[in-house]
Amino acid sequence: MANMDKSKQPEQLSLFDEVVDGAGAPKPTTNPEAEKHAAEVVRLRAEIAHHDQIYYSEGRNEIEDYEYDKLVRELRTEEDKLKKKDPNHELLTIASPLNQVGGGAVDRTGETVRHAQRMLSIDNTYNEDELLDFDNRVREALSSAGELAEASTPVDYVVELKLDGIAVSVMYEHAQLRYAATRGNGEDGEIITGSLSRSPNVPNKLSDAFAAFDVLELRGEAFLTFDDFNRINNSLDQLNKKPAANPRNLAAGTLKRLDEFNSASRRISVRFYAVGAASGDALPETHSELLSMFAAGGLPVNDTYRLCHGINEVIEFEREWEHKRHELPYPVDGLVVKVNRRAWWDILGTTAKSPRYMIAYKFNTMRASTELLAVTWQVGRTGILTPVAELAPVQLAGTTVKRATLHNYDEICRLGVRVGDDVLVEKSGEIIPKILRVSEDYVRTGKETEIAIPASCPECGGAVVLSEGDASPYCQNENCEGRKRAQFTHFASRAAMDIQGLDEASVRLAMNGGILNDIADIYYWTEAQWTDLLRRRASDANVKGAEKKEYKLAKIMVDEVEESKAAPLHRVLFALGIPQVGATTARDLARTFGSLENLMATTTEDLEKVDGVGSVTARGVVDYFADEAHRKTIDRMRAAGVRFENTLITIVAGDDPKANENNPFIGRTLVLTGTLSSMKRDEAKNRLEALGATVSGSVSAKTWAVVAGPDAVGTTKLKTAAAKGVQIIQEEEFLRLLAAAEDPIA
Ligand SMILES: [Zn+2]
Repeated sequence: MANMDKSKQPEQLSLFDEVVDGAGAPKPTTNPEAEKHAAEVVRLRAEIAHHDQIYYSEGRNEIEDYEYDKLVRELRTEEDKLKKKDPNHELLTIASPLNQVGGGAVDRTGETVRHAQRMLSIDNTYNEDELLDFDNRVREALSSAGELAEASTPVDYVVELKLDGIAVSVMYEHAQLRYAATRGNGEDGEIITGSLSRSPNVPNKLSDAFAAFDVLELRGEAFLTFDDFNRINNSLDQLNKKPAANPRNLAAGTLKRLDEFNSASRRISVRFYAVGAASGDALPETHSELLSMFAAGGLPVNDTYRLCHGINEVIEFEREWEHKRHELPYPVDGLVVKVNRRAWWDILGTTAKSPRYMIAYKFNTMRASTELLAVTWQVGRTGILTPVAELAPVQLAGTTVKRATLHNYDEICRLGVRVGDDVLVEKSGEIIPKILRVSEDYVRTGKETEIAIPASCPECGGAVVLSEGDASPYCQNENCEGRKRAQFTHFASRAAMDIQGLDEASVRLAMNGGILNDIADIYYWTEAQWTDLLRRRASDANVKGAEKKEYKLAKIMVDEVEESKAAPLHRVLFALGIPQVGATTARDLARTFGSLENLMATTTEDLEKVDGVGSVTARGVVDYFADEAHRKTIDRMRAAGVRFENTLITIVAGDDPKANENNPFIGRTLVLTGTLSSMKRDEAKNRLEALGATVSGSVSAKTWAVVAGPDAVGTTKLKTAAAKGVQIIQEEEFLRLLAAAEDPIA
């Protein structure tokens, strides 16, 4: 696929022409300070306009994305300075490219808009039998409505590749762009006009082919090609920002950014595939004609679609693309099958959630074969050694996979895999890639080597023993550098104290630098020490231009460490890495004992009275707190201001059968935002209500918590929650709470 279509209308360019022309010769004023900034504004606007011009008209770049973004940031700064020196300067009366969206469009990025027509979801199928079932249902419904001579008459379908991006609605009134929005919950979407209108595929004005429509709401998919995904990620890397995991996440994040004027938003591609609301003119009778009309009118469509006569041709298409999709320069996760004749859509109708005239077919999870180059053993915080497969780099689901988990030695034996084998690797979603088996067609050369348990710890050289339970190899050395590094990294991890700057690389540097021997040390580091650490981290990682950022980052680190002092008791207990105490047990302990003092003073007998705590865990907890070194760490943390405050309340079971101490939801009001990956919104609502909770549509002071799906970024609900101090529960935590509440241990 071409990197972009040349469908951008001239309006986009005239916008900048006007800015440049109008700003060409600022009149001298009596304020030389202001004129210095004015000259910079003129220069930067012209330079940005130049780069936009060649990008939109010729599809090429003279500078790297991060250099473009640097120009944008400089312009923002210069405009601010000019405003301070001379608020009435004529340059400021000419709209800056930074604030332009295109003629009259609505840009209130982040706000919600009620869709003119509901954006339905599509039912998914995963195999050919389900496609045949769909076809049967369609033919039976049409023949009983008298539309088909007999139920066996084949129906025409249009099959399209399902691009893996973000569904968008783009509203035009009298051919003029009004707004663009995400699908949201189907009823209300989030406005993304600012970022989406920067895509070369979204015209500010529709061509004459659509002139007769008063209203025309286009539906399409916004996505990133693998090339553009890699470019933006490189650019994020240059800025020392965390790269995105896959093109879909990056597209979503880019579209929802508030400062949408950047190089990334320019790289968003869009393909249109449907019409929502429409008035003023008639739409074609068939879906294939609609797609032709789009293409003829200059709107980008994915031209791989095919008109199929009968379901068997659909299945042929599916088998063909099951393999061919891997050669595409953009991510595709399935197919969409639609009945071609639009008049039949009304006859077939919709269920509560999805139309009966179309269905999605999901391809299998991404798999690929590659060579197993080596196996390395990673030391975990408890000393356990985990085998990690080092692979010849392979492209999977839009990312380069170089490593995969092998879980444990048992798994290696079960797979019978050897170094040098060709192995089948699977990656699904965000999960760490794993090895499924030795590739079926691989013939061993005899040079492959068996994978052996290491005789000594790769980190400290200490003796390795096999655990009695699962025969996993352990490093027993309490002072093993590798174990400590894993413990410190765990302490700072998101689920624990959430100090994001203290990742494995920082921990390694800090330990090598001698400033991190005990986790309490981080509470005594100065900003200068953070700056130094981050500088060395940046130079290690070879991050260009990062030097200037350390000062700011160091400030953020200091803030994160400061914030972590208020982390609730259960999070700190989990972070400390007490043997056998995972996130759930940590909550149970905090809820039962109420304070760190009580927990430290308790006995194994009392501990075993806690639901889910057995004798091994009880022993582990008591031994942990009996250790002088651990007590000293806790004392130093407390002296530095860590509060160890319990925030979990115990709900006393009364007559209400829903009440149990694991049910935090009873009597509380929750709000859902974003899409949960594990269940539909209705299911979440029903399950919460069954637990005695109320699910509300908006956040108020009475809201106990907002549950956020993984795609919920900067939603109005999240912003309101943050403003009102309402807690936000991520999906993972929500599922845990839900499971515990629904299945209380008797
Ligand atoms: Zn070791």
